[in-house]
Amino acid sequence: MAGGYYKIKRGESLTFWERLYLPEIFRGLSVTTRHFIPNWISTIIAYITRTPEKRKIMTIYYPEELPEIPDSYRGKPVLVRAGNGATKCVACGLCEVACPPKCISIVGGNRSDGTRYPETYTLDGSRCIFCGLCEEACPVEAIVMSHRYQDLCEHDRSKMIYSKEDLLVPEKDLQSRLDFIRRRAYGKCNY
Ligand code: SF4
Ligand code: SF4
Repeated sequence: MAGGYYKIKRGESLTFWERLYLPEIFRGLSVTTRHFIPNWISTIIAYITRTPEKRKIMTIYYPEELPEIPDSYRGKPVLVRAGNGATKCVACGLCEVACPPKCISIVGGNRSDGTRYPETYTLDGSRCIFCGLCEEACPVEAIVMSHRYQDLCEHDRSKMIYSKEDLLVPEKDLQSRLDFIRRRAYGKCNY
């Protein structure tokens, strides 16, 4: 699902009708009523017919039902695992430099064929602000902002220090985000 947005009219002066205040109150109530009554009726029908998937409501029964996440969503940053099982990261360190709260630390190494890889890649999830700058800085699409949000909370901050192994996710599971990054890079993204 592509992400949508509403343009907020900031700084515009109120019309005479809006300054009267009460008409806007009633307009707001009419919107609420317009949504409430059909939702309420459809929920009762779904309950009677035992077809919860047919409810026309804006809320979901989390965590039994999971929300549809827009491609533009910035969840937990993860490392992309290529088809050959190795990380795509070349340990250039650009994400480490770009990260505002400095929550990434990398120790690079060389493979026998001379290519670079991260011997260790550590990300402190308790300091991450989900800005996405690591993703933007990466020249090889090796770190992306995933759709993960469920595993971001811990009672103990030390459990939020993620190693390379914790962060690696198969490329196929990140395809929609990778496609989004490419659309954004080529100006074809309306987010
Ligand atoms: S999303 Fe921002 S804060 Fe989090 S690791 Fe990336 S650059 Fe750092
Ligand atoms: S994730 Fe990307 S930017 Fe960060 S070190 Fe690896 S290749 Fe460089």
